[in-house]
Amino acid sequence: MTNVTQNLLKIRRRIQQTCDSCGRDPAEVHLLAVSKKHPAAAIRVAFEAGQKAFAENFVQEALGKQRQLQNLAIEWHFIGHIQSNKTREIATCFDWVHSIDRLKVAKKLSAHRPPEQTDLDVCLQVALADESGKSGVQPDRLADLASQVAALPRLRLRGLMCIPPASREPPRQRHWFARLASLRNELSQLGLGLDTLSMGMSNDLEAAIAEGSTLVRLGTAVFGPRPSGIDPAT
Ligand SMILES: *Cc1c(COP(=O)(O)O)cnc(C)c1O
Repeated sequence: MTNVTQNLLKIRRRIQQTCDSCGRDPAEVHLLAVSKKHPAAAIRVAFEAGQKAFAENFVQEALGKQRQLQNLAIEWHFIGHIQSNKTREIATCFDWVHSIDRLKVAKKLSAHRPPEQTDLDVCLQVALADESGKSGVQPDRLADLASQVAALPRLRLRGLMCIPPASREPPRQRHWFARLASLRNELSQLGLGLDTLSMGMSNDLEAAIAEGSTLVRLGTAVFGPRPSGIDPAT
């Protein structure tokens, strides 16, 4: 059985050491615990160990766990592919959405965000490598999408997210993260100031932090291996 509390301590140390070696303040790097395929009980353990932000990929699975954990002040992030018939539930039940890659979905999230809730924090998912079938806006269409999303009511455009091609080689990992960071800089030159780079997973968080990540999304490192082999990230 994986010890979630121990894992969280190890991750905090990894983040601290990486920040030390690249001269960053660890307070700038937020940890998002990716709980897809793990039960509500595991989330509760992590919460009790001080972890407050959790991410889910599937709406139905997430809603079930949210019902079981209603009494906990969890910040919920949606990081999965967004089906346009699920935007009402996503806009109502999450605090953040990382995976917007088209205007149609952004408009629906904007329309469905209940007025009594605070603005929905959102990131745009960028397709960095030319891999057909993967989600994400192409870099050459990013500036248009970003300015359109920034203009929508009830959404607050916070940043960019990526899931780069898997690689075990740090220079290769850093290449993609540096691309996302430079896209963010290009947007800020256009007047769109974004404070969030959602990048880095269990196997590449050091590379992501070295390139400026402000939010790492860790599943396996927190909860151990997922029960099923199907990985919705790919
Ligand atoms: C599953 C998933 C993660 C976490 O992956 P690990 O390798 O288990 O840390 C991060 N981001 C997204 C979008 C995911 O789908």
